[in-house]
Amino acid sequence: MSKHFDLIAIGGGSGGLSVAERAASYGAKCAVVESGMLGGTCVNVGCVPKKVMWYAADMAHSLSNAADYGFAIERKGFNWGKLIEAREGYIKGITDWYDGYLKESKVQHIAGHARFVDKNTLEVAGEHYTADHIVISTGGRPTVPTVTGAEHGTTSDGFFALTEQPKRVAIVGAGYIAVELAGLINALGSEVSLMLRREHFLGNFDAMLRETLMEQMVNDGVNIIPRFSTKEVCKQADGTLTLQSADGMSLAGIDCLIWAVGRTPNTDHLNLEVTGIELQSNGVINTDAYQNTNIEGLYAIGDITGRAQLTPVAVAAGRRLANRLFDNQAECRLDYDNIPTVMFSHPPIGTVGLTEEQARLEHGEAVSVYQTRFTPMSHAFTRHKVATAMKLICIGPQDKIVGIHMIGPGCDEMLQGFAVALKMGATKADFDNTVAIHPSSAEELVTMR
Ligand code: FAD
Ligand code: NDP
Repeated sequence: MSKHFDLIAIGGGSGGLSVAERAASYGAKCAVVESGMLGGTCVNVGCVPKKVMWYAADMAHSLSNAADYGFAIERKGFNWGKLIEAREGYIKGITDWYDGYLKESKVQHIAGHARFVDKNTLEVAGEHYTADHIVISTGGRPTVPTVTGAEHGTTSDGFFALTEQPKRVAIVGAGYIAVELAGLINALGSEVSLMLRREHFLGNFDAMLRETLMEQMVNDGVNIIPRFSTKEVCKQADGTLTLQSADGMSLAGIDCLIWAVGRTPNTDHLNLEVTGIELQSNGVINTDAYQNTNIEGLYAIGDITGRAQLTPVAVAAGRRLANRLFDNQAECRLDYDNIPTVMFSHPPIGTVGLTEEQARLEHGEAVSVYQTRFTPMSHAFTRHKVATAMKLICIGPQDKIVGIHMIGPGCDEMLQGFAVALKMGATKADFDNTVAIHPSSAEELVTMR
């Protein structure tokens, strides 16, 4: 006999936990099926371990500046093992908490791998479960390219499992993960080469952001190698790796290679064929504005939908879907426009809305750009310099703000409030009418000319 639920979420990550918990709060009988660790990518091999490492790297930068502030500090090394142990202890606390939280929320946790038997029935570890509503929130996994010797490398998942600090690291990729890992591993003292197949990284970001960050990373000692299209990876007798590019370049002596070339959606082991769900050629599930798939009663949220692959997006989409299905909020859905995002680089990037390039393509002559670049006060007299750069993209006679882009110390925490203003339709005059907070970097955003 199968067990019946109002809603089952496949995947106990950011999206699945959120939709089930919210639906259960309305009295729906819910379950979450998880084949790995509760919390999914974000908690176990994503945002959380990454941010802990970022804090460590940030501390390393601060220690380098301490002498300029008068502290006589001698650095006596860095204990990688100690940091990893503390980080994993912290994560275990979160995953343990999730277990209790699901019980409290009256959501059943079904451990195991789910696959469809038919559109309303799942099989997990030999048991059958049925539901009126099934939400696919199975996320993705790191992509490993099909180059010869790719198996000698690891991915972000493998990076978080390293118990010893690698000495010479090569990272292949040009997106969030490649840039964040390159910055933090470099700050923690490893030698890092970042291999880009094009001229720049962060192709979708405003040019000011990627150019400023690239300059800073080079100054900080990251070996950025543009136009290196990896063709082959060879393991040498001494255990080190050599990367060969398609046009004859090579990089030798690497003891840790990290592939950071995007993520593959987890749709391939679900037996989705029996449901008739439409997929894109890359495995992403097609959804409409309300997270519906083309099959009634089947929904998809989070990374698996290929839209803005961020934890708060998966959470927000899940909660809104539950509001719609179980709280009579018929029009409740996530607005995917103007989602703020932070790159946890050194220094961090905060960005929301249209880039200058996008704005000019969409609005032509109606675009006005305000920008500034300065040395933040925290680095005014330190030998190690860090730039801050900010840009407001405005349109029309009202100078409506449609893009905010900033890089510099503190920009990660600065963005959230300004994103609220942009989302509410703020104009440049609204910013100018807000009295500045002094002395801060944020004040530049309300005093730009
Ligand atoms: P996931 O969290 O991936 O959850 C999917 C779950 O489904 C997994 O636990 C998986 O085990 C399970 N599963 C898969 N198939 C099955 C099956 N058949 N049966 C049962 N269970 C199954 N986002 C941010 O907003 N900020 C950040 O700073 C940030 N940093 C990141 C750093 C890294 C290194 C990575 C990789 C990602 C980062 N992200 C960040 C992205 C963020 O982690 C994802 O957007 C988010 O986790 C997506 O949630 P999800 O629920 O869609 O999928
Ligand atoms: P991304 O999609 O961000 O970047 C992958 C990039 O790698 C591509 O854009 C491409 O850049 C490059 N690439 C692809 N194939 C190859 C190849 N064969 N060789 C060399 N380079 C290649 O993926 P990530 O894996 O970095 O991150 C996945 C998602 O996770 C992100 O999009 C983001 O949504 C989320 N994330 C969010 C974070 C945050 O919020 N701070 C942090 C980490 C992840 P190009 O075409 O320019 O070569």
